[in-house]
Amino acid sequence: MSILFSVIFFVFILHSLLASTEGFVMNYYNSIFYNQTDQHNSLQCNLDLRLIKEIRNYQPIIYSIINRVTKGDFKGLVYEELSNFTDKFGSRQSGTENLEKSINYTMDLLRHYNLENVHGEPCMIPVWIRGKEYAEMITPRNHSLNMLGLGGSISTPPDGITAEALVVNSFDELHERAAEAVGKIIVFNQDYVSYGETVVYRSKGAVEAAKVGGIASLIRSVTAFSLYTPHTGQQGYDKNVKEIPTACITVEDAQMLRRISERGEKIIIHLYMEAHQQQMKMSRNTVGELVGYQEQKKIVLVSGHIDSWDVGQGAMDDGAGAFVSWFSVALLKNLKLQPKRTIRAVLWTAEEQGLIGVQQYIKDHFNELENFDIVMESDEGTFTPEGIEFAGTDSAACIMQEIGKLLTPLNMRKFKVRDSVSSDITMITKYGVPGATLLNKNDRYTWYHHTNADTMTSLDSNDLDKNVAAYAAIAYVIADLSIEIPRENSIF
Ligand SMILES: [Zn+2]
Repeated sequence: MSILFSVIFFVFILHSLLASTEGFVMNYYNSIFYNQTDQHNSLQCNLDLRLIKEIRNYQPIIYSIINRVTKGDFKGLVYEELSNFTDKFGSRQSGTENLEKSINYTMDLLRHYNLENVHGEPCMIPVWIRGKEYAEMITPRNHSLNMLGLGGSISTPPDGITAEALVVNSFDELHERAAEAVGKIIVFNQDYVSYGETVVYRSKGAVEAAKVGGIASLIRSVTAFSLYTPHTGQQGYDKNVKEIPTACITVEDAQMLRRISERGEKIIIHLYMEAHQQQMKMSRNTVGELVGYQEQKKIVLVSGHIDSWDVGQGAMDDGAGAFVSWFSVALLKNLKLQPKRTIRAVLWTAEEQGLIGVQQYIKDHFNELENFDIVMESDEGTFTPEGIEFAGTDSAACIMQEIGKLLTPLNMRKFKVRDSVSSDITMITKYGVPGATLLNKNDRYTWYHHTNADTMTSLDSNDLDKNVAAYAAIAYVIADLSIEIPRENSIF
């Protein structure tokens, strides 16, 4: 009897201890995340305790991922591989031989790091050639304007365009002064509000200028900060509006031109551009995998785009994003962490010309989209990561938020839900597939991207390591969880 009583008493004590330990762990997590509830878009989560426990049980694995890349022999390796790549190839514009050679090189690299099923998937991409280009103010004084033609722009006539400038601060001002615009080069000196809000001047400036009779447009670069750096980027014509040559100029010159015009002085600009479109060419999306051990056809996708503009080294946009993505898979492979489902790295081609690579990928893989657990992309900088940005249903967001808590050792505590995240993957998430990217301290992203300053010098090796750790951790947990990320609103 006494032995039986002792056993019962022991089991009772053990159970109480375990329960209080669990309570302690819960309180610990809740306390570190208590201060960030305002960043959760008031997400009301009521996750199954067993699921919470399952997710938290991954913490030791997450530590091993983080330690390997922030302290172990993988530390600094992604920076080294990316610098080998960007120093060798430089910028990788769509349609160039250089981009295709860089894709061949990357496929070899993926194989070297033991990714599986490494291959390229064909995709026809547009080819835009910048050619020779320059702009100069010739009245009231001679001054060379630092400029970059915008992607998709047409050329000027062979002798260039010499015309008076009309400098406006907004589309509204242009419309108010429409009568003055005819036959002029329209200079937009719009203030920078945010990239998302201001970029419309780059993408639609030429169309708005042409609508009121402008013969060319020069757009103030879309950036929060400038050291006399012009920023290129894609722009689009409207088939019902006359196409005119268009380029970006620096913030400094746009502001100067505005000041001169406000003094009532006449400004004459000479613009010369050889920009033109050529025949479409074949490129490839680059793919490599870590095949799951149980549900091989279920996919967790991590990605970035391998093409860049033809300026700088395309290191930040998006060499770093592309490398961080495939390298996170290489890290898991090296750690011999094989999840239930497959983790697939995809390096999109021709993102800059209008998300071309991902659109081909969707056409080729449409029937497979129902097997996608989540799609992720790094294309908004690889600065110090601070958390996760997620697109998906509330119940999916609650799971993602819980997974995000595993990244506390990286000091990542933020969680944001948005309708769509990143660039290429928005084309996939619109079909109801959950999407995610990392929130990072990317205030300086637009200082560099699409400029000659987009080089390795803008990147930090330790930050790249942390990005790798975070993508590897998130991808691994989602690919290995007992459940898939829910998607109630899916078309599937
Ligand atoms: Zn990009």
